[in-house]
Amino acid sequence: MNTYKPVKTLTDVIRQFSDEDKCRQFLVQQRWNGCPECPYCGSNKYYIIENGKRFKCGNKECYKKYSVTTGSVFHASNIPLTTWFPAVYLITSHKKGISSIQLAKDLGVTQKTGWFMLHRIREFLKTNGSLLLKNTVEIDEVFIGGKMKNMQTSKRRAIREVGKNVNKTMVIGMLEREGDLRLVVSGQADSRENISVILEKNVDKSAFLMTDGTSVYMNHASDYAGHQSVNHSAQEYVRNGVIHTNGIEGAFSLFKRSIIGIYHQISPKHLFRYCRETEYRYNTRELKDGERFEISLTKIAGRLTYKDLIKKTELSELPMIRPQLPDLSVGAQGKMRAVYQIKNNKIVAKYSSLKEASIMTGIIAPNISKCVRGLRKSTKGFVFKYA
Ligand SMILES: [Zn+2]
Repeated sequence: MNTYKPVKTLTDVIRQFSDEDKCRQFLVQQRWNGCPECPYCGSNKYYIIENGKRFKCGNKECYKKYSVTTGSVFHASNIPLTTWFPAVYLITSHKKGISSIQLAKDLGVTQKTGWFMLHRIREFLKTNGSLLLKNTVEIDEVFIGGKMKNMQTSKRRAIREVGKNVNKTMVIGMLEREGDLRLVVSGQADSRENISVILEKNVDKSAFLMTDGTSVYMNHASDYAGHQSVNHSAQEYVRNGVIHTNGIEGAFSLFKRSIIGIYHQISPKHLFRYCRETEYRYNTRELKDGERFEISLTKIAGRLTYKDLIKKTELSELPMIRPQLPDLSVGAQGKMRAVYQIKNNKIVAKYSSLKEASIMTGIIAPNISKCVRGLRKSTKGFVFKYA
């Protein structure tokens, strides 16, 4: 892509990526740094086929054909890349997000397509969640949804008796000062014991916690380097200039404004996606819109199907498929059993199928298949089991 000029506006995107070839070339650059990598086996040996439209894996145990969109969020959609690219720009550049209806109008696609594109693009708008937050970390929670007025009287009465936030979904926000934001769906009021798990997964033990006076965090504070809180109920907001939670509250107001202004009503099962989107936007706030667009396209690996999206799921759990018959032949139709990837007796990931596990880990499917069927103990240092 020696002719590529950094984009600054939507018009630049439309002009520069005017056909599928130009889009694909740019994706090869962004996804693989210019050097194609087989999404099935991870091999960097490849042959160019179909005039560069696709590649053939050079690993003789694989030899599969693939394109730059295989195993990515753009995989197997009949939406052209010339439509996907402006969509990515629109979604990533709007400060408060964009609704699927607006997106559909802007792109000239159906509402259903707009909705699907928005969710797929959201899927790769993630910041690296495996790094723990350090230094000073502000923590607070916010309650989303559960409007009383659309509810049956009996249900409303039951909720009033228990407490005002019982029908809402709690989102815990953690912000490293001068660093990254994390928003994690904690679920409804009855599942709040998992706060310690959320803290453990996101905050380094060396961190200094900064909270408001809510007692839920007090119980966990002793695990960390230190803890200070301001007492909002006593009108205290900043103490000694540094003890405050203004940063996380600012991030929450952005989150809430995008939910109220754009999304109106969010179903709890999709809430974690909106959290990610806010995180991503917040954590890339220093970037210019064009830069954010370019970086976003480096993250396209990993995908979500329409079927995954519409399925009913548990809160904050990725959509999975019901176990069926034992897997006997890899690649056979109708076999869709969720698979756990395990390391040191801990589940590190869950995939909807063996094929997905293979694409996402780069380990060849026959080896994963042998693992799940008990024919071998592990592959590439991982144990695989049917979920
Ligand atoms: Zn391969």
